[in-house]
Order: sequence, then structure tokens, then C-alpha cells
Amino acid sequence: MVEVVVIGAGPYGLSTAAHLRGLQIPFRIFGKPMTLWRDNMPKGMLLKSDGFASNLAAPDNEFPLSRFYEDTGRRDYSDIGLRIPVQTLVEYGLEFQRRHVGAVDPSQVVRLSRTADGFEVVLDTGEQVLARKVVVAVGPLAFRHVPEALAGLPSRLLSHSSDNHDLSRLKGHVAVVGGGQSALETAALLHERGVGVTLLARRKLLWFDPANEDRPQTERSLLARVRRPNFGLGPGWRTWFWSEAPHAFRHLPATTRMDKAFSTFGPAGSGWLKHRVDGVLPVQIGRLMAAREQNGQAVLSVMGVDGPASLAADHVIAATGYKADLRRLGFLSELLDDIDRIGHAPVLDSGFESSVAGLHFIGYASAPSFGPSMRFIYGTRFAATRVMRRVSRPSFRRDLARGTLQQQTA
Ligand SMILES: Cc1cc2nc3c(=O)[nH]c(=O)nc-3n(C[C@H](O)[C@H](O)[C@H](O)COP(=O)(O)OP(=O)(O)OC[C@H]3O[C@@H](n4cnc5c(N)ncnc54)[C@H](O)[C@@H]3O)c2cc1C
Repeated sequence: MVEVVVIGAGPYGLSTAAHLRGLQIPFRIFGKPMTLWRDNMPKGMLLKSDGFASNLAAPDNEFPLSRFYEDTGRRDYSDIGLRIPVQTLVEYGLEFQRRHVGAVDPSQVVRLSRTADGFEVVLDTGEQVLARKVVVAVGPLAFRHVPEALAGLPSRLLSHSSDNHDLSRLKGHVAVVGGGQSALETAALLHERGVGVTLLARRKLLWFDPANEDRPQTERSLLARVRRPNFGLGPGWRTWFWSEAPHAFRHLPATTRMDKAFSTFGPAGSGWLKHRVDGVLPVQIGRLMAAREQNGQAVLSVMGVDGPASLAADHVIAATGYKADLRRLGFLSELLDDIDRIGHAPVLDSGFESSVAGLHFIGYASAPSFGPSMRFIYGTRFAATRVMRRVSRPSFRRDLARGTLQQQTA
């Protein structure tokens, strides 16, 4: 039996594994390292998070992104205003894994069930692993959301934004549905490739901090910086709570948490993207009502500000985000009824532990408990530290030292 199994090898899983290794708690970690960033983000994408908010969490903050830039001879690092190419984040994540995690098993977990003293984790290879505790860090991908209104389209005419790592396969005219960063950046990248693109957004496009976003912190006066300091999820005192107080977020009323967990910081685009979209490519404002196939094309029916309209396209990309819903995680089916939920996300205590003792959730699914920072890399330190505090409680450590818990065998 291993002490801890971590399901997921993205920023959250890797950060937790680094902390487990730091405390010499035997663990195994499953999943494809950095796969969301490597296989599901469009090539050429830039991160919206700042440099200082894109650190994976090793114990003692040993390997921040700045260190990776330094070690690889990249001279352009800055905490604020740095635009990080997605490929650089992938390389950083893999190097973080090499230095602070070690071996990751790329197998998929297909079933999770309880045993007398922990869990049985079944892999797609058929292997069965016993673990005392499990940390689920599977990210947002399983929670992809496509609006019901697009249900009438065949799959060759419709994809989710996360299916479009390689935009070069798209030709003709593409409709991108959504008004968040993913929609805006995908539309900009398509346009820059010479593909005809129309953005369909429910309301006028919103931009985060278009004036200040690109200016390095040092160029701003002290007064400006005090008035509008930078926090992990963005500048301005109003973001402080959502960004820096995940421990307090848990104590807000449940309805407020459900609302703020996913509505804060979206849908809107980064200020630095504005000049690549605004006035550059066509934007249609309206509510998507229905979609159908006609003569091999997708035809979208839209209720616009001036009444009904339609939009024809050779392909539709639903850049319509994610909805945390544990029912979408097939491997959880045997435990689902025992997990207390808020909406369809797990209710978590201060150690990210669910109502199933020993079963933890971090990352996207934990946002209704700890707030919007759990949707971003910035939340990895808080999550990894809290989970670690729980699994390294004196009683757990005592058992470990006494050998009541068997050491990792794999
Ligand atoms: C388009 C887009 C842009 C974004 N930009 C930013 C940004 O600029 N800055 C930022 O901070 N955040 C950004 N995010 C949010 C991003 O999702 C998180 O920051 C981060 O990737 C979450 O990390 P994670 O480890 O929770 O999940 P992920 O990175 O999604 O990793 C999930 C891991 O789980 C594994 N897994 C899944 N199911 C199983 C299974 N059954 N068995 C085994 N393993 C499994 C996968 O293989 C993978 O290793 C963006 C998200 C999107 C979609």
C-alpha cells in the first residue's frame, strides 16, 4: 500500500507531489504531465497570468518560474507584464517534475473504491494500487461545457476550445462562441493565421485592465502601486479577497461561493489582447438560441440586440468554459453518493478533504470551497500546503514512523 495517490499531473498534482516528496511521504502520481497545456491549449497561446502568479509550488518555493527562466538562459523574466508562451510553461512544468517530483505514471485512473483502510485505485493498464489517501487533481478538462443550443450540430462542425491545440486544421470561416480569454485568444490566433473568424459573444467584450496590464510595476509610481497593487489573480484591491484569502472564502454563504467561484475574473480578456481583437475581427453580440446543419455548414440562430439574426460557419468552436461536476468523473462513480456536494462540486474542509475520509480534491473542483484562485496556477501553493498539513498530521506521521503504514512498494 502507498500512503498517498495523486490523480493528475498538472500544476496542482505536481505541486502536491513535490510537497509529499519533500516530507518523504511515499506516494504515486498518475496522469500525463502538463497535458492540458501541452495538448489542449492552442499553439501560440500566451498565459494570462503574470510571472509571479505562474509558479508551481515546491516546498520553500525552491523552483519558481523566475528560476527556470534564469537556468535556461531566458533573460526577459519579470514578475509583472511578462507574457509567458504556453510552450515555456510546459517546459517549466516538466523540469519542475524532473527536479521535485520524479517518476509520474501516465496511466489513467478508471476506478476508485474504498477498502477497510483506504482506497483501491484501478488503472487503465489493469493494475490495482492500494492507498491510504487519495488527492484528486484532474483539472477542468473533464468538465468541458458546450451549450445545449449547439446540440443540433454534428461533431465535424463543432468542437470545444480545448480540442483545438492545432488551429491549422481549421479552414474557411470559423465561428467562435464565447467572450472569455479562451474565446478571444483563439479568435485572434485564427485571424492571424488568415482564417475567417466571427466571434459570437453574449455581451459587449470586457477587458481586464487594458491600460495598465503591460506596464512593468517599476514604471508605476509608488502611489499608483499602493492604490492598485498587483495580486495573484490581477491588480486592484477588489481582487485582493478572491486572490489572497482562499481560507476565508470557505466561510462565505454557499450561494455566494457558488456564484463567485466561477463568475469572478470572467468572462473577459486580458488587456494585452485587446489590440488583436477590438476593431480587428468581426464580433456579433447576441444570445445563441439554436444551431443546425445546412448545406454542410453550421448555421447559428442568434437573438441579437436588433432582433433575430443568423451566422453561418464552416466550423464552430465552443469556447464556453467548464462546469465543475463530479458526475463527469467516471472513476468516482462508486463513491459519488458518499461525497457531500455543493452544486455538483465536493464540499471540502480546511484540508481539502471531502466527506469521504482520506479523499481530497484540489484545483478546479475545489473552487466552490476555496474560491477562484483554485482555477489558476496561483492557487497551487495554498492547496498543496493545506493538503500536506492534513496528511502529515502527527497521528498520520506517527503511524508512518511506526511502520503501521507500509512503505511505498512501487
Ligand atoms: C484556455 C485556458 C487558459 C488558461 N490560462 C491560464 C493562465 O494563464 N494562468 C493560470 O494560472 N491558469 C490558466 N488556466 C487554468 C488552468 O486550468 C489551471 O491553471 C491549471 O492547469 C490547473 O491545473 P490542474 O493541475 O488542476 O489541472 P490540469 O493542468 O488540467 O491537469 C490535470 C491532470 O489530471 C490528469 N488526469 C485527468 N483525469 C485523469 C484520470 N482519470 N487518471 C489519471 N490522471 C488524470 C491529466 O492527465 C493531467 O495530468 C487556463 C485554462 C484554460 C482552459
